Amino acid sequence: MPDRPLHPRTRAVHHGIRRSQYGEMAEALFLTQGFAYDSAEQAEARFQHSGPDEFIYARYGNPTSRMFEDRMASLEGTEDAFATASGMAAVNGALMAVAAPGSRIVAARQLFGSCLYVLELLRKFGVEVVLIDGTDLNQWRDAVTPGTAACFLETVSNPTLEVMDLAGIAKIAHAAGALVIADNVFATPVFSRAVELGADVVVYSTTKHVDGGGRALGGVICGSREFVRTRAEPYLKHTGGAISPFNAWIMLNGLTTMELRVRAMADSALAVAQALQGAGVRVIYPGLPEHPQHALAMRQIGSGGTMIALDLGSKQAAFAMLDRLRLVSISNNLGDAKSIVTHPATTTHQRLPEAEREGLGIGPGLLRLSVGLEHPDDLIADLLGALA
Ligand SMILES: *Cc1c(COP(=O)(O)O)cnc(C)c1O
Repeated sequence: MPDRPLHPRTRAVHHGIRRSQYGEMAEALFLTQGFAYDSAEQAEARFQHSGPDEFIYARYGNPTSRMFEDRMASLEGTEDAFATASGMAAVNGALMAVAAPGSRIVAARQLFGSCLYVLELLRKFGVEVVLIDGTDLNQWRDAVTPGTAACFLETVSNPTLEVMDLAGIAKIAHAAGALVIADNVFATPVFSRAVELGADVVVYSTTKHVDGGGRALGGVICGSREFVRTRAEPYLKHTGGAISPFNAWIMLNGLTTMELRVRAMADSALAVAQALQGAGVRVIYPGLPEHPQHALAMRQIGSGGTMIALDLGSKQAAFAMLDRLRLVSISNNLGDAKSIVTHPATTTHQRLPEAEREGLGIGPGLLRLSVGLEHPDDLIADLLGALA
């Protein structure tokens, strides 16, 4: 490898590769949960301390998983990373690493349904969880008291696409000694500047843009070596949260094309958002100047991203549109090569009471659109045709 710093796109292709004695070109899939030791002494030594290329059991680590972790840490700009079985295992692992009875976690209330569930669970175990409007820095200032353990937020909220001022929140958190844990799925690892803006820990569901083909579940926790290896890893390795080597191998392959894919998807998303807005639909897309946090999104993320929300006013209008689509699929993943539309109120967020959903801006007419890799003209024709 050259000594000079390499661009993220180059690192996404090469970083972290571990070649076996055969010198294989492609990242090897080490589909093994165990590893043999040369002697009893070696086994004993490895259980006491294992180096970066010494493995014990795939629940603790695996060479393919480690390649993926190293590549993600390099892209995110953190010292280390731990790959998890899903995005939720990453969110849960990062929060469990900071939670203790009596500790305080301040979180933006604009969260994915399962993230809210994890916070509710922590409350049951005596963690003081305070939910606020994440877009309002004054609420962060009031809620983050000295000694607060962590601030948790989705940098761009799922599904309402509210953009949080990560730099502002990090300043408030750090003044109080709190860690900032950012769920950065919607910003994507391609546009992420989360660490530079002050996030201490960045979590992803790699099920989304990293896989990019809607094949496998996965997640990752990126952070300092101390956080990842001494706080998150012990919890995750003993409770079974590690990624499967097979899924890590899929994620590694996803990373090699991620930047090209995500940039193309974001370009299409802007074109789709403009076309829908031109047709008179209420469109929520951070890349449009009408979005309330457009300037912030451009400053901190530099792109409107690959996700769009539309508000058609009623469930009836939303369902009528969904049922007329011919190309865009009705499903609930995102970041896939195939465009996907979701009705959050009746699917991903149906667990929440209606009042809470409405409070989050998830009305009966809201649709979440994940823009894929199809030609934007075909997507626009399908979407406008379904509206007609
Ligand atoms: C999908 C998603 C998750 C959960 O990820 P899984 O891989 O489905 O467990 C968490 N946070 C956000 C913002 C997501 O979009």
